[in-house]
Amino acid sequence: MGFNVAIDGPAGAGKSTIAKRVAKENNFIYVDTGAMYRAIGLFIVRQGIDIHDKEAVEKAAPDAKVSLTYENGEQVVVLNGENVNGLIRTEEVSQAASVTSAYPVVRELLFEMQQTLAKENDVVMDGRDIGTVVLPNAQAKIYLTASVEERARRRFEEYKNKGMDVDIEELKKEIAQRDHQDMTREIAPLKQADDAVLVDSSDMNIDEVTKAIMDIIKERR
Ligand code: C5P
Repeated sequence: MGFNVAIDGPAGAGKSTIAKRVAKENNFIYVDTGAMYRAIGLFIVRQGIDIHDKEAVEKAAPDAKVSLTYENGEQVVVLNGENVNGLIRTEEVSQAASVTSAYPVVRELLFEMQQTLAKENDVVMDGRDIGTVVLPNAQAKIYLTASVEERARRRFEEYKNKGMDVDIEELKKEIAQRDHQDMTREIAPLKQADDAVLVDSSDMNIDEVTKAIMDIIKERR
């Protein structure tokens, strides 16, 4: 088993920004599991399947072949041979990922790949169920959160920088809805693992959060 760092938390808490930095500083691989669920969500949307039709989603999902590659240290999500990195960061795909990731077949499709990556490499893996379900033996577990207002504000800035026009109140609503879906689903709900360290980043900047997490990792190595 490699050295495994699990970072879980709600949407917009800064997991991917921090996980990327921490992975780079430790020379670990960064695995963004949300991107894998997003690729499946994109596949379902493209097929014109209603994301709430569990049976139809579970029937179609195995045709979504998701894999990861790395280019210049960046994770690239490949869906049936296509690089979909540029297509999975929309609110429609966020919602599709959140709804379809609650279905057992969808989770089973990605579970083994995530475990294998962590077995064969030193990884920083972020998601919703990494410390609780995917890597219960991870050497370091962090539950990274922030207030919903702050998370909406960060997403708003992110979209604005990309030139996308979004309404912050709408974003707040969508984030709160996704939190609710992810926390209340039957399998692998988002929750803090008993042995995870809680980091609330509401009043912390990126450097401060990175340092807090680096310190936790140093303690465990
Ligand atoms: O982290 P991100 O916001 O990209 O994840 C998109 C969605 O994928 C989440 O809202 C969640 O429903 C799902 N997800 C999951 N388990 C993970 C990572 C993401 O169910 N480990």
